[in-house]
Amino acid sequence: MSKPEFWNNTKRYYDLKSYLVNTLGHPAYKLQIDAGFTCPNRDGSLSRNGCIYCDGRFSKLRMQGPLPSVTDQIARAKDFYRRLRGAEHFIAYFQTATNTYGSYDTLKALYDEALLQQDIVGISVGTRPDSISGKVIDLFGEYAKTHHVWIEYGLQSIHERTLTLLNRGHNYTTFADTVAKTAGRGINICTHIILGLPGESHDDMMATARAVAALPIDGIKIHLLLALQGTRLGDLYEAGEISMLSREEYVRTVCDILEILPPAMVIQRLTADGYQDIYLAPEWARNKMTVLNEIDRELLRRDSWQSKFYRKE
Ligand code: SF4
Repeated sequence: MSKPEFWNNTKRYYDLKSYLVNTLGHPAYKLQIDAGFTCPNRDGSLSRNGCIYCDGRFSKLRMQGPLPSVTDQIARAKDFYRRLRGAEHFIAYFQTATNTYGSYDTLKALYDEALLQQDIVGISVGTRPDSISGKVIDLFGEYAKTHHVWIEYGLQSIHERTLTLLNRGHNYTTFADTVAKTAGRGINICTHIILGLPGESHDDMMATARAVAALPIDGIKIHLLLALQGTRLGDLYEAGEISMLSREEYVRTVCDILEILPPAMVIQRLTADGYQDIYLAPEWARNKMTVLNEIDRELLRRDSWQSKFYRKE
């Protein structure tokens, strides 16, 4: 057995860049947009405290002052990628906070504004599984007839005790129900999980990965838990009440997870980065490229790849 040929890449997992070239016939660059959304876990609807690892600052752009329009943000980001990479095709990525948390008309106006811009071939929207209506899922189903569409649902863990500890404000059942409602409409579904959450063992993390592998999910972002200043989790870390994963544990767990994921699941992220101004730990993860190289090396050492041990249930 060898790695799937349809990836058309030199990696040992199906990375987003390769997937987009294979699917669209050309590269596409994701343009990060902060459309000014908040989050029900921050505005008091569910909680005012947020998830315990969340810094609540939303984006660097928002910290600088009034947000430019979606049109202006896209124009600036396109210009950047055109000059840097010669990019020609783009995906509008509504990244900051809960990007389906608003009235249907407001949401549609913002998404339409993005999709009307020249050379935008798709849209990707990050949100919570408890914050999207059937009508908005229908809207994405319509967009999917003419554009490349992703919805990203944050999960982090399937374990109720962990979700409660994190103050996520939703449970696994809500996540699985929303995925079921979204699937089968031409919409690509991505989920986020976090490794190294307080109280979770290697078996717990593998159980989350197995659950994701069994759902109709098309892509995954695997994050490393970071301790950041100004967060509840950062306080717990500084008080010595929680510990962070070592590099060896993280790399081993990422590779164990990749081995059981389906071959067609697109790997959109394999670690966390950024937040340098409030970064506390783990120290070894400050450099994203070092972590990615370690994962490549471990897969090579094992002579392994994403899906090597995947079994369809
Ligand atoms: S759902 Fe996202 S934006 Fe909202 S509190 Fe949690 S991490 Fe922060």
